[in-house]
Amino acid sequence: MLRTILLGPPGAGKGTQAVKIVEKYHIPHISTGDIFRENIKKGTELGKKAQEYMNRGELVPDDLVIDIATTRLLEDDCKNGFLLDGFPRTVYQAEKLDAFLAANGMKLDKVIDIAVEKEELITRLTGRRVCKGCGASYHIVNIPSKQEGICDTCGGELFQRADDNVETVTNRIEVYNNQTMPLVDYYEKAGVIVHVDGAESLDNVFNAIVDALGE
Ligand SMILES: [Zn+2]
Repeated sequence: MLRTILLGPPGAGKGTQAVKIVEKYHIPHISTGDIFRENIKKGTELGKKAQEYMNRGELVPDDLVIDIATTRLLEDDCKNGFLLDGFPRTVYQAEKLDAFLAANGMKLDKVIDIAVEKEELITRLTGRRVCKGCGASYHIVNIPSKQEGICDTCGGELFQRADDNVETVTNRIEVYNNQTMPLVDYYEKAGVIVHVDGAESLDNVFNAIVDALGE
């Protein structure tokens, strides 16, 4: 049984850790982005409502996000726990999640916060290069191609995605920090948060997470 939430800024390696966590603990990875896409694809009432906001270019309101996420948590595969990713995003959502869990006789075990310094995140995100030919992903420092600017696999040209420039990346990190700091405080007060140093290697980060969650 493990009910947990994964927090971490863009570039912290959250996606990679999520895959390892769900594999080890046999719990579903509940990403709000995925649930939204699923509800829209299946044409559920919640999906239709969400789609209306998205079509207008508006943010999906908190209460609808909460509805969609908590409905997902009632499905059978969540009986032994879950890993939430991308929800909650605000203290209001966190309070509603707590109320939902309490009403259903459940509670959160741990909230994992993967912390990485802003400078390191900027280096990671701006160093990313993608192949025009096959879409393979490189990093000028961490995963360099054998020949600069050329894909190892297909010989295609490597380029930097438009949203990987310093300005956009810095903005994404700041938006994340502003939104998430109050949430970290909230879970800090609840005594469920665990801070993991995301500057470490992928394996070390995962080992720290397992230490915190227990075997
Ligand atoms: Zn390629």
